Amino acid sequence: MPLTTAMPTQPNLPSTHWRAGMPSARKRYSYAFLDEGAKREIRRKLLKAVAIPGCQVSFGSREMPIARGWGTGGLQLTLSLIGPDDVLKVIDQGSDDSVNAVNIKKFVRNVTGVPLTTDTRVATLIQTRHRIPEEPLHANQLLVFQVPIPEPLRLVEPSERKTRRMHAEADYSRMWLYLYEDIVRFNEITVGARYPVMVNGRHLMDPSPIPRWDVARLNQSEALLLFCAGREKRIYAIPAHTDVEPLSFEDFAFRVENFHGHCCSRCGCAGSFLDEVIVDESGRRTFICSDTAYCEKMRRRGAAADAAQEENR
Ligand SMILES: [Zn+2]
Repeated sequence: MPLTTAMPTQPNLPSTHWRAGMPSARKRYSYAFLDEGAKREIRRKLLKAVAIPGCQVSFGSREMPIARGWGTGGLQLTLSLIGPDDVLKVIDQGSDDSVNAVNIKKFVRNVTGVPLTTDTRVATLIQTRHRIPEEPLHANQLLVFQVPIPEPLRLVEPSERKTRRMHAEADYSRMWLYLYEDIVRFNEITVGARYPVMVNGRHLMDPSPIPRWDVARLNQSEALLLFCAGREKRIYAIPAHTDVEPLSFEDFAFRVENFHGHCCSRCGCAGSFLDEVIVDESGRRTFICSDTAYCEKMRRRGAAADAAQEENR
């Protein structure tokens, strides 16, 4: 938890102030931008969320200097949890260099001064949109998910009052029916990302729009997994070593995306989640790792192995 100094915030600073550099920005804002009351509330709600795995806890979502829908929930969790000793990594769909990820990490660095990294193993706090890093996480890490729609039952019930009741009574029959009807109609469960999961055998949870590929990594995770939807004002969590199971039927098992016969054209890896990209005007397509930092690591490892082989000849 960060050491903080209570300083008056000045929300109407001229934009040049931000360009002027981080030290002065830090002087004029509370540590990590949010006021102490906001951080305290979010941390309290987080404790409740961790105590009841998968249960959505409402909180007072603050206005942030980015638009709702661009990661305000994840950003509020990150700012409430980050301390001077943390190392931050932000990814967007697996990429460290997308506009959303770059802007969020620049902002957090400006208001905290923490170092940034792209290395999953080095980071202590990782904020992510729509992916879980390929490399395994460890116990001293926090993974913060940006969540657009926290309610897994929204697919079958538009009323918030009714979905709350369904969670309270653990009545998930309509979700099971939805999946069953999908199989009857299409011979496939058509939910791709946001695949509903059962947490700790009790709460149905929306894992944010991660691909099915990542769902298995929620189960018995070493790291604490935290989810926050800023627009919908909900926080939920999966503590370390918690059972997380995707909904599936005995005779219709849960399946992940199939990349059979494809591998990454940059690093040659065949065991990671791949993005299909168009490489030229003729529409030629290729596959590359979605996790850019992992791809770069594999590429360097491959190059080093080639060099060693060359030396031994
Ligand atoms: Zn790759």
